[in-house]
Amino acid sequence: MIAQSKYKKLFTYLFVSLTLLVTPACLERSNIHEVKGLILLEQAIPSLDENSLVIFDVDETLIEAENLWRSDVNKKAKSIWYPLYQKIHKTVSSRDKKRVLFSRMAMALKPILIDKNVPQIIDQIKKQDTKMLALTKFFPGKFGDMENSEEHRFQELKKLGIDFSSSFPQYTSFEMPELSDKKPAPVFHKGVISTSHCTKGEALVGFLNRINWWPNRIIFIDDKIENLKEVAQIAKERNINFLGLHYRAAENLPCTVDQEVAEFQINYLIEKEEWISEDKAKEEMIK
Ligand SMILES: [Mg+2]
Repeated sequence: MIAQSKYKKLFTYLFVSLTLLVTPACLERSNIHEVKGLILLEQAIPSLDENSLVIFDVDETLIEAENLWRSDVNKKAKSIWYPLYQKIHKTVSSRDKKRVLFSRMAMALKPILIDKNVPQIIDQIKKQDTKMLALTKFFPGKFGDMENSEEHRFQELKKLGIDFSSSFPQYTSFEMPELSDKKPAPVFHKGVISTSHCTKGEALVGFLNRINWWPNRIIFIDDKIENLKEVAQIAKERNINFLGLHYRAAENLPCTVDQEVAEFQINYLIEKEEWISEDKAKEEMIK
């Protein structure tokens, strides 16, 4: 027994040590770096040109919803919002009604920039004639009261000074039904690719094949390591120079959500089918 437990300990030790050694080495080989800021991107700007492509993820990379409602990386925000999100799912049985409620919420909540310097960084990249894209795991089309989700996504970014539509001016909007049998099809819309049911890698390859242009260098910024690994693999297979930034700034954003107010907002949404601001919720709470 003792010997068995000794071997078990030794095995665990070796496994953990090897994992720690091998994981960063693998990521380094793929040129993926875990970062809390965008200095590596800024340093790369002078060497970018018209054959380079810079790709940004949207949620938790460029923007967060007001009060970090959609955040799945900010621990405090997630601990408050996630149970309330579940409450909507449990209380409202109709799928259509749920969609209406979530769409009203999404349309009322104002997005915020994760790094307020990003619009200036994007302007500098544009000056290098470098193409840019947003690549987002997002369902395009009609959603509840939202007639056109991809246009809403484009406008969310545009209001904050981020607009990639000039990178591929010959294309305004097109669907990519060839990538999946499931509906809705992935969509390119004014510089933003909404992946729908596809992975980010599939949607990116589909887009570049469709426009018949491949860069010789890709820089990709995303808060999810699996997305970075996937695009790194695509770049490797095609001999494209790749830099991936596993960008973790959103985890440390200050979260000032008041739990009681948040609960009131959610209950109000369920009962009255309207999303009210924090200020209005506070007024209603003392009535
Ligand atoms: Mg993200």
